[in-house]
Amino acid sequence: MAYTYTTINGERVQTNVAKAFEQLRAAFKKQFGLNLIVSSGTRTREEQARLYDGWINRRPGFNLAAPPGQSNHEESGPSGPRALDLRDSGRDDGVTVIGTVRSNWLARNAPAYGFTPAGHFFNPREAWHYEYTGSLDSAPAPAPAGGGSTATPAGEYNPFGIAFCAGLQKIARLYGGNTAIDQKWGAQSAKGFAQFLRQNWGYKGNDVLGPVMWAAIARWLRARWGYQGNDVPGPVMRAALQRAETANYHAL
Ligand SMILES: [Zn+2]
Repeated sequence: MAYTYTTINGERVQTNVAKAFEQLRAAFKKQFGLNLIVSSGTRTREEQARLYDGWINRRPGFNLAAPPGQSNHEESGPSGPRALDLRDSGRDDGVTVIGTVRSNWLARNAPAYGFTPAGHFFNPREAWHYEYTGSLDSAPAPAPAGGGSTATPAGEYNPFGIAFCAGLQKIARLYGGNTAIDQKWGAQSAKGFAQFLRQNWGYKGNDVLGPVMWAAIARWLRARWGYQGNDVPGPVMRAALQRAETANYHAL
């Protein structure tokens, strides 16, 4: 896909990601009176290779970086140029450290603007790393509503409204879904995942995601992934589902 970019804080940011980010930035400013800043946007493959090389060779000034082709800071990353590293204009660590007031606020509110705090689920955790969950199509993305759930339109990327689904596809394949592990949720992904829920989590329904399937997903997330909430998918349930997805992606 050919992406279009704009520049924020000197960093390359995909157009749809930038639009969503500006709304998140405005909300952050309203809340704290501080500027939310992009410290790293999208890299070319060459730039990612240089960062990775610096990291594995322990050169001064180089931090943890994924190998080329594995970072969503990269145009050719697993799900496209979705990642932003963020900091803020405050005097202390702010959004760059897990558990601070501003980090907690951002992690809790970002989903309403189409971002997931993906780095909070990395190992080691990266408080500053966020990923856009909406469409990267060059047609204008619908403006994320300022409240409630994530901005991912159902079915556009995956039906769950989370950034990735390859970990769920791995589960689906174990339960008879003949799917590729490609982040594209199709009928075979749905088939295997529904079977997983039937065999383990009391689901009695067809392969289509709806309220009854969400209730089964909620049972799974409450039992295994620290979810404390009801059966209605909101940002907290989606964050738990993304944790489960990421862990299964790495484990299976
Ligand atoms: Zn990052």
